[in-house]
Amino acid sequence: MKKILIGTHNKGKFKEISYLISKKIKKISPNQLKIASPEETGKTFSANSKLKAKYFSKFVKLPVISDDSGLCIKALNQKPGIYSARWAKKYGSFLKAMKFILKKMIKKKNRSAIFICSLTFKYPKGKMVTVVGKVKGFISFKIIGTKGFGYDPIFIPCNHTITFGQMNKLKKIKIDHRYQAFKKMKKKIRIL
Ligand code: IMP
Repeated sequence: MKKILIGTHNKGKFKEISYLISKKIKKISPNQLKIASPEETGKTFSANSKLKAKYFSKFVKLPVISDDSGLCIKALNQKPGIYSARWAKKYGSFLKAMKFILKKMIKKKNRSAIFICSLTFKYPKGKMVTVVGKVKGFISFKIIGTKGFGYDPIFIPCNHTITFGQMNKLKKIKIDHRYQAFKKMKKKIRIL
């Protein structure tokens, strides 16, 4: 059976990426191999997804797929952006980070936001392919929904009336930024 290392320690992301990859490929996580995360020193989503793919590929002779993703809010100068995971640490949890965001948004008229995902696939011998996927939406007025992960309970995708946190998991997976990136990746990488 073919194998791939999915370069993330985030359980929510691991599940989504696993779901998108062919059932015929065995998915390995860095946790299974006791590999720690690299420091995210890049200034863009793509710089970080490449950095992660290169890093994880040092430990295995397998193809690696990694992503860097986050929530960019227009009224907050596109923050938290590449700092999405770090804001949760800084404020103590995702719940606290979401509360902070909603407080900051109280007087903002424009609630547009976008989830961005940069996905990098790296062949064991070196070649890398990077694509970007996006899903546009709005920041909700309340934290709603217990499904999903991260900032899902405050993001309402365009053409919908519920947050990602309220949405059926399979429905979310088929519209989100990771899926959009994956669709592009599949056109370039046949084995997926
Ligand atoms: P990183 O890519 O490891 O830096 O982490 C990105 C962070 O962005 C995650 O920890 C989540 O907080 C957030 N994020 C990325 N994708 C999603 C998503 O699909 N739903 C909710 N939050 C997300």
